[in-house]
Amino acid sequence: MLVSHILRQKGRDVVTVGPTIALAEAAHTLAKRKIGAVVVIGVKGDVAGILSERDIVNALAVDGTHALARAVSTYMTRSVATCGERDTIDTIMEIMTDGRFRHVPVVEGGRLAGIVSIGDVVKTRIEESEREASALKQYIAAG
Ligand code: AMP
Repeated sequence: MLVSHILRQKGRDVVTVGPTIALAEAAHTLAKRKIGAVVVIGVKGDVAGILSERDIVNALAVDGTHALARAVSTYMTRSVATCGERDTIDTIMEIMTDGRFRHVPVVEGGRLAGIVSIGDVVKTRIEESEREASALKQYIAAG
């Protein structure tokens, strides 16, 4: 199963923010959109970083409420692990497990083409297992 399969089901919309907006605004965006991370887009339209709820918790733990007025670029992760549409879901699971994060932006031809979360991966895996179980049951019943 490929990343393109997940994107066909969930769509390609990615919630993005600029690096200069305040952390408080990014927190509002996460809450309003009911998501766990935003991709930070640089001036050239490139992926400049990723900011997840964990970064906001860390920022508050280190800098207290002063963090909320500071720019997202202060707290985002700059070295972003990305994937392509033709990567397998097994590869994404490996990337997430090795990096200990739950979001992987999809980049195609240098452009942001979607995002895969651990929730998408788990959902797809469950559907796959259910399909396999149902095919096996049919096979056994037919015999
Ligand atoms: P998450 O599990 O996605 O909430 O993220 C946990 C930590 O990993 C945070 O510091 C994020 O900024 C960082 N992070 C999330 N996704 C990625 C990614 N694809 N590449 C690199 N770091 C990431």
